[in-house]
Amino acid sequence: MRIAIVGAGISGSSVLQTILNAPEMESVDFQIDIYDSKGNFATGIPYIEDDIALLMNSASKDLSLDPDNPREFDEWVEEYNNRAKSDENLVYRQVYGKYLEDHFAPSYEHSAVSKVTAEVTDVRVNADNSVNVATFSDGWLDTDYDFLFLAIGQTPYRNSYNLKGLGNYIHNPYPMSEKMPEFAPWDRVGIIGSGASGLDAMRYLMEHVELDSPVTFYVRDTLFTATGVPCETDVETSLTFEWLEENCHADSGRVKLETVLETVRADFAEYGVNWQDVVSQWGHSRLTDNMRAYYNKPQDLAIVQRYFVRAILILPHIFQAMNLTDQQRFLKDYYPYLTHMRASVPHLTMGRILNLIEENKLRIVDGLSEIKVNQDGQFDIYGEESYLESADILINATGFEEDIVEAAKQSHLLKSLIKRDMILPHDSGRGPLVSWPAAELISRQGKIQPIVMLGNIISSTQLGNNNARLIAQQGGISARQFIEKYVLKGDFNA
Ligand SMILES: Cc1cc2nc3c(=O)[nH]c(=O)nc-3n(C[C@H](O)[C@H](O)[C@H](O)COP(=O)(O)OP(=O)(O)OC[C@H]3O[C@@H](n4cnc5c(N)ncnc54)[C@H](O)[C@@H]3O)c2cc1C
Repeated sequence: MRIAIVGAGISGSSVLQTILNAPEMESVDFQIDIYDSKGNFATGIPYIEDDIALLMNSASKDLSLDPDNPREFDEWVEEYNNRAKSDENLVYRQVYGKYLEDHFAPSYEHSAVSKVTAEVTDVRVNADNSVNVATFSDGWLDTDYDFLFLAIGQTPYRNSYNLKGLGNYIHNPYPMSEKMPEFAPWDRVGIIGSGASGLDAMRYLMEHVELDSPVTFYVRDTLFTATGVPCETDVETSLTFEWLEENCHADSGRVKLETVLETVRADFAEYGVNWQDVVSQWGHSRLTDNMRAYYNKPQDLAIVQRYFVRAILILPHIFQAMNLTDQQRFLKDYYPYLTHMRASVPHLTMGRILNLIEENKLRIVDGLSEIKVNQDGQFDIYGEESYLESADILINATGFEEDIVEAAKQSHLLKSLIKRDMILPHDSGRGPLVSWPAAELISRQGKIQPIVMLGNIISSTQLGNNNARLIAQQGGISARQFIEKYVLKGDFNA
């Protein structure tokens, strides 16, 4: 049996690890080829060796990839002599990469595994359901695969202002140690967007560059997510896999949104927290709220944040168990607040931002509407109504292109999959349509049985999966589904 995994980040490596550790596979004669275009085996893109300014955005206690040992990462950090964390008390991203290499090392050393450094540019499914892949360097390869996992990570960066390819515009800022240009002190430097990549760019500039004028975050209307508040209480959630099983309707397998809300309200009541109050106080994207939360450390916000971090692994499953009407209501009325509060700017990072603003090293311009290049090659920044100012160098941190057809313009593989009619856009317009929980690609003809797609690209189905543990969990689930649905029921057994 031949299996191909394309992409060797946390998704692809978790698939590999799960298959290799499955007792059922002991009686199967198999070989796994794992492809990665950049040779980023185990680390994937975010955690490669890069600039020291790049930090994890979650606390180290939430980063273990061993579901049986939530302290695995913290224990590993202790062995690393505590040289793993920055002044913001966050782990350096490249240090997490070293943990990933250690965590996945036994899988990559397995005799049934071949690592291939090559970009996969095309995939075809033959009449007998075997799969071939083509690579950029060698074209179609001879191997017939029985199963293919596409774990290619994020979609390419959004080209919101049509600036890609222009000098002094850094479209994809990673790896920062290679992509950042030389800066002159008089350069007016802007970062478009203030999410996690925007914070990376800010940290890089503060670490390496002395500028005459402050670095500017240009944002449309959404500023930072909520300030992370240290929680003084040990927060538990009733939302677990067992809870979901108990609360799903016996016949339909569905869970009602109202049942979820009742449970969350009851949990919050135990901590004296009222969701509506928290939303009205902290659910918005205003710098004044970030400041208040930073200085006052409100515990109701802290409890809500901790609660949803604790519930992170079950949330996509609860979402998928709801009917369509409830899903839409959840996405409209609750999810935006939940993500705003949960995907928070770490506490000390917010302190640093506020200091930088005070020291006039950082500023924020909101209401961004358009960016045009003028005849001197500078970037003219426009608000809704008028021209605002100009910048010399712009760093793109607007996030990933969610429209799969747009994204395909920047990806050979996505372009090929669309051309071959193997991808259908998800109903939300974001990412491809996949089955749940196996994550098999769904085309117009139905499930493409031998192909699974994983990673942030499927976040319309696996809600909120921009997180290391969730990404790893889904790799494990898809690999288990593959074993149960195809290996045990198929004719692969040796
Ligand atoms: C910059 C950044 C920072 C992040 N920081 C955090 C964080 O602090 N905490 C957290 O929990 N989550 C973070 N995330 C979320 C992140 O998505 C996950 O943690 C996780 O690393 C994603 O793993 P992945 O395997 O799906 O994707 P990736 O790690 O991106 O792996 C995909 C791999 O596929 C390879 N590849 C892509 N296309 C092809 C092709 N056609 N052929 C062959 N190989 C291909 C790439 O080279 C890459 O190695 C971050 C994400 C990004 C982008």
